[in-house]
Amino acid sequence: MSSYQAPLRDMQFVLRELAGLEEIAKLPGCEDVLDVADPILEEAATFASEVLDPINQTGDKEGCTWKDGNVTTPKGFKEAYAQFAKAGWIGLPVPDEYGGQGLPSLMLGPTLEMWNAANVGFANGPLLNQGAIEAIELVGSDEQKKLYIPKLVDGTWTGTMCLTEPQAGSDLAQVRTKAVPSGDRYLLTGQKIFITFGEHDMAENIVRLVLARLPGAPEGTKGISLFIVPKFLVNADGTLGERNDVECAGIEHKMGINGNPTCTLNYGEKGGAIGYLVGQPNEGLKYMFIMMNAARFSVGVQGLALADRAYQSALQYAKERVQFRNVASRSPEPKRIIEHPAVRRMLMWMKSQIEAMRALSYVTAASLDFAHKHPEEKVRKNIKGFVDLMIPVVKGWCTETAIDVCSTAVQIFGGIGYIEETGIAQQFRDVRITTIYEGTTGIQALDLVGRKLAQDMGATATRVIKEMQAVCDSVAEVEELKAIAASLNEAIAALTETSQFIGMSAMGDLRKAFAGSVPYLKLWGVVAGAWQMTRAAKVAAEKIAAGDVDAEFYKSKLTTAKFYASHVLTQSAYLKRQIVEGSGDVMTLPETAFDLDRKSAVVA
Ligand SMILES: Cc1cc2nc3c(=O)[nH]c(=O)nc-3n(C[C@H](O)[C@H](O)[C@H](O)COP(=O)(O)OP(=O)(O)OC[C@H]3O[C@@H](n4cnc5c(N)ncnc54)[C@H](O)[C@@H]3O)c2cc1C
Repeated sequence: MSSYQAPLRDMQFVLRELAGLEEIAKLPGCEDVLDVADPILEEAATFASEVLDPINQTGDKEGCTWKDGNVTTPKGFKEAYAQFAKAGWIGLPVPDEYGGQGLPSLMLGPTLEMWNAANVGFANGPLLNQGAIEAIELVGSDEQKKLYIPKLVDGTWTGTMCLTEPQAGSDLAQVRTKAVPSGDRYLLTGQKIFITFGEHDMAENIVRLVLARLPGAPEGTKGISLFIVPKFLVNADGTLGERNDVECAGIEHKMGINGNPTCTLNYGEKGGAIGYLVGQPNEGLKYMFIMMNAARFSVGVQGLALADRAYQSALQYAKERVQFRNVASRSPEPKRIIEHPAVRRMLMWMKSQIEAMRALSYVTAASLDFAHKHPEEKVRKNIKGFVDLMIPVVKGWCTETAIDVCSTAVQIFGGIGYIEETGIAQQFRDVRITTIYEGTTGIQALDLVGRKLAQDMGATATRVIKEMQAVCDSVAEVEELKAIAASLNEAIAALTETSQFIGMSAMGDLRKAFAGSVPYLKLWGVVAGAWQMTRAAKVAAEKIAAGDVDAEFYKSKLTTAKFYASHVLTQSAYLKRQIVEGSGDVMTLPETAFDLDRKSAVVA
């Protein structure tokens, strides 16, 4: 059975030496963060390993059950949620006025990582609370804010996001759920599917945020509005009224994240579920897009978290499992598998990418704070551009990489990894959803190419690439870092050329740009990860040169950065070829090229 210990030293390193915790502390309202960061990390680490981790595997095994429209979560989940809420974790980034802790988004990086690594099935619940809080805070009326946010923050109620319908998955333009005005409220009818924590027994009410269409609304994305549809109606004084007309028709039998329920919700079978418009009519999808930054960031961190947990398990196993002698020596003595070169390569391949994902994710989280709170408007605008560009990369690249990392962890376990008891199979099953929900990787790649690059004609991308180049140049003459700089230099050139290719293609035939969009997103991830690893290596080299007492830790940073440069960053060359040389083929293949010819050959 696997267990989780938060990598606190690594987290502190990224927070303080890469993501700029000290600079964040200079932002208005963030002054206390330097004092509280370490105690928060310690407490979160204890909560993750002592409360969430023990119910991770049992929750997966037991799963959720549905009976007559009610859903029961696995043993211990309800109690853990109560403890989580009481400790104030839900309100970590929420302003004090709503009862939150008002901490910078940067602190979400390590805390989300811990919750998700310890128990991703559980962690999805509070994550949805934060999404609902953000939506209501952003566009809700004062009354809605007063009525719903404090109870979502203190955990008395939970939140859900109800977007998906059978015919409307990636393409939310197809949403058909209807909302008809009825006095100062609306009556909703329709069906939502795959709704995480759509129904459960962990809290007294569920605040469902639902996308639906008003009568006569324009077709497509411009005719979708956002509604609050609570499980129990809420009286003006905040007490609960009667049950709303929403039925949970069933829960899905899933491949992973079995600790949480994924529900089918039927709205209005008895005449209409009562809903309250949030913000302006027909602006629902726009609001969702504003909120998606946070949700997509969080799923990217889920990937990182599951990869780290899988690495911890694989490392422990590799240190214990004895198998085969050292092939290069004459000794017949069998060795621990960590001594075999192929296993060492797998482990370092995992570790170096986890560090790159963590650095890029936390740096992006810090940028969210600068984008919101920096006193200078120009700086806020530039940093917001960076965040917008990086969100699909953090979501798409971290989750795709995490699947590979978890798969490699199963490989290190060998046959026993394929057997459920070790827990590593669960990690592999759990991580698989992360490239699908909150927008598949294909959709993240469309976002990167079709919106983020296009919106300023590549100006932000060019600026970020220049920043990467500046870091690269700053270490090019440092003896210890020369090899890293040389690899990064080549990779930056590949990213620059590919960006130009994508930009030119988009001006000619958008389909050609989209054909290369997924490898292009991965290229951004691989190179941006290297940029952060190079920054880490630079800090490490300086600390070692200055005789820092923690030299062993910094040496390990140099090791992973060097490994990343020579084993991971080298992917940039073939990703570039895929995009530049292969995009035309993908686009022009006739559909018959995919057909299988099942006839046997005609023998003459
Ligand atoms: C466990 C789980 C939990 C979920 N939780 C929630 C939730 O809480 N709330 C909610 O509203 N939804 C939720 N979902 C739904 C999830 O967000 C959707 O499954 C996801 O958005 C993909 O939609 P789809 O399944 O219809 O796939 P489709 O949209 O049918 O996509 C199928 C494939 O086609 C590709 N594709 C589609 N269109 C394009 C395009 N234009 N360009 C390139 N590729 C494309 C996709 O990338 C994908 O590979 C959940 C799903 C699951 C499985």
